[in-house]
Amino acid sequence: MSNEELSCSFCGRSKPQTELLIAGLDAHICDRCIAQAHGIASEENAIDEVIESEFELKPPKEIKAFLDQFVIGQTQAKKVLSVAVYNHYKRILNPKVEEEIEIQKSNLLLVGQTGTGKTLLAQTIAKMLQLPLAIVDATILTEAGYVGEDVESILTRLLQAADYDVERAQKGIVFIDEIDKIARKSDNPSITRDVSGEGVQQALLKLLEGTIVNVPPKGGRKHPDQKFIEVDTSNILFIAGGAFDGIEREINKRLNLQAIGYKSKQNQTEEIDQDNLLQYVNPKDVKSFGLIPEIIGRLPVLTYMHPLDKETLRSILTEPKNALTKQYEKLFELDGISLEFTNGALDFIVQKALEYNLGARGLRSLCEAILNEAMFEMPGGEETHLKITKVYAEQQLKKSNNATLKAVS
Ligand code: ADP
Repeated sequence: MSNEELSCSFCGRSKPQTELLIAGLDAHICDRCIAQAHGIASEENAIDEVIESEFELKPPKEIKAFLDQFVIGQTQAKKVLSVAVYNHYKRILNPKVEEEIEIQKSNLLLVGQTGTGKTLLAQTIAKMLQLPLAIVDATILTEAGYVGEDVESILTRLLQAADYDVERAQKGIVFIDEIDKIARKSDNPSITRDVSGEGVQQALLKLLEGTIVNVPPKGGRKHPDQKFIEVDTSNILFIAGGAFDGIEREINKRLNLQAIGYKSKQNQTEEIDQDNLLQYVNPKDVKSFGLIPEIIGRLPVLTYMHPLDKETLRSILTEPKNALTKQYEKLFELDGISLEFTNGALDFIVQKALEYNLGARGLRSLCEAILNEAMFEMPGGEETHLKITKVYAEQQLKKSNNATLKAVS
């Protein structure tokens, strides 16, 4: 083989494109890949050291206090999540206990409308514990052999998030979004299996429970000599989330039946908060919605997210550590511009977000639409101050072409 034909087995650069090409048994590596690999190795070591020295499990109250910095409201979900996470990692850190009494995994199921903070909770927990996190959408999963991704691909993502450190991945967190979308179409078990519904639920079972899976490391960084990487899912924390649109009907039905039974016995009925039926959600409702009992059993911690009201949206806009207004202020500040929102503008944004019914997700699209022109025009200009008033926000929103907002308006 001539010099021109030799190439780096990692990045594919040909010999003339490199400063140095070192030959191995069946492969070559160039100067840049050596430097990159060295960087990765030292970074990994540094991370491992941090994790080993700092993976100190905080009690649930401290976990919740950390969540409070980033997630507004959702007190009940935060409490439940803090306890579940605490118990989960307590179980991992004390493996001996398992031999005596088997402590089961505390996988969670979060039920709540879109944009209420389900993903954010999972992200914040992962940030706090400095653990790898994979966020996957259940809708892309199909039963093995069909078009779409096998459930194992979830673990490929987790491995990627852990930079292929299997040990770290095995203690990581997986957030499965839109779990409600793989509900079977009817509560009747005799219905024919559907590839994207019950079949996927069946495939997920083992993963949730804890098993050893051969994971194809496809995509991302190449792994030197293995085709599959073995990943043990026993200590992976799974958090599933979904909007479960229409589950309120199931909850209402059940509550009414209970109320009737209760009434006849006690001649009184407990006050039911009809505006937020999700707070009463229980595993039976999730089953009526179409998750199979085995899946529900493997997501034993069930909790709900409150729909976001005006006050909460307003707080989300301005209060969290990385609140949207703070982010935009920072962006403008980097161009030497001080950005200010009037109360009227903030109220207007919240009002619109409620109208669009996208939860807190709408806030970001609205801010983008309102600030886009200024972000385009102002950098490099003379002006050093921008005040966003309600009138300005209204005008910009009318002009904007924001695709997300267009789609729902
Ligand atoms: P979900 O997973 O419930 O659909 P996300 O967690 O993805 O919603 O939230 C969408 C956006 O809204 C994110 O940018 C997130 O920061 C913000 N958000 C949603 N709920 C909250 C909350 N309770 N506190 C702070 N920010 C929130």
